[in-house]
Amino acid sequence: MTSHPAEIASGPPLRWSALSATGRRVLLDLLVHGPRSRIRIAERLGLSRASLTRVARELVDAGLILPGDMLASASRGRPAEELHLRPQAAHFVGVKVTAERVYAVVTDLAATVVDELEIALVSPAEGEVVDAIVDATRALGARHGTMSALGVGLAADVLRREGEPLVASSPLLGWSAPVPLARLLAERVGMPVTIANDVHALTAAHHWFGSGVDHRSVVVYGVGAGIGCGVVIDDELVQGSHGRSGRVGHTRIARTGRPCTNGHPDCVHSFVSMPAIEANAGVAPGDYAVALERARAADGRERAAFASAAYALGAAVAETVNLLDPELISLMGEGLDMLDLDPAAFDDGLSAHLEQVPRTSVRIDRPPFAFGLYARGAAATAIRELLSV
Ligand SMILES: [Zn+2]
Repeated sequence: MTSHPAEIASGPPLRWSALSATGRRVLLDLLVHGPRSRIRIAERLGLSRASLTRVARELVDAGLILPGDMLASASRGRPAEELHLRPQAAHFVGVKVTAERVYAVVTDLAATVVDELEIALVSPAEGEVVDAIVDATRALGARHGTMSALGVGLAADVLRREGEPLVASSPLLGWSAPVPLARLLAERVGMPVTIANDVHALTAAHHWFGSGVDHRSVVVYGVGAGIGCGVVIDDELVQGSHGRSGRVGHTRIARTGRPCTNGHPDCVHSFVSMPAIEANAGVAPGDYAVALERARAADGRERAAFASAAYALGAAVAETVNLLDPELISLMGEGLDMLDLDPAAFDDGLSAHLEQVPRTSVRIDRPPFAFGLYARGAAATAIRELLSV
């Protein structure tokens, strides 16, 4: 992906702390819902015409929005009544941490990815991860100028203790003690830092910008090195009282696979993640691509591993539907090949576990997925935190 230095806002860096609370609300509304007329914005946010005029002037002066008639890109001007975000007014860093690498993106204020880079990790030890995130943030800052905030997503529970976000533990990274990752990073990068569970961040961004837009309740499954889900109810991401929401997957199915961390040989975790598929297919750890190639070529142990994964994922989705009855379930992640190999097995697992719910009433989609969406989700979470009042 190419960088776009020409898009960098000129002038002094934005002072987010100087922005009024109402200004932040208007920005967030434009970010999530797109350009709007002043009247619609005032109605949605319950603002008087006079206070919206005052806030619009504040945001125009800060370079954050433009009235429609001042849009340079419009061949014929849009109505002055309409307010537009100026995406190039600010940039954010979003990072997704895996056990092998730190994957970073830069987004603009509209959460559009404009640049990316990867740094390989020698190990996922805490200090190593912090150094890599700092290096990535500085490298991207050198290319794009001042960053407004940094968002980090990782496969871990994130809890708040006395207002401070802590990474509670991450089996995937081998972290067991709570880590004050936001503070450790903020001291080094000198900007606000937000930490989020990676699937929660993916879910929040999907709800604002993906097929989850316009749905008040959405469940997103992230399937890859593990399986997790994010839940949106009444337009709000449910994080849980300990940051632990979205644990799915110890539902038992009538098959035998790799034992899960709880010792179950027959639960969703025994089948669905990429490491589980590797183990059940009998290939070496990390040889997911080999298992996939063999499963596509012939009907053998490898294809059975993918079929069981599809069935188990169907069972997990059914349990979510039974519990929450969401409007939409979106399946995302790099480990969803089982749905192409054996879509019927997914439907079988779903139907077998739905409780008095007709299959036809369950809306499931599989939006286009790229690994960068996790990092973008982390950036979007940082934008949201900066704009929350
Ligand atoms: Zn289990």
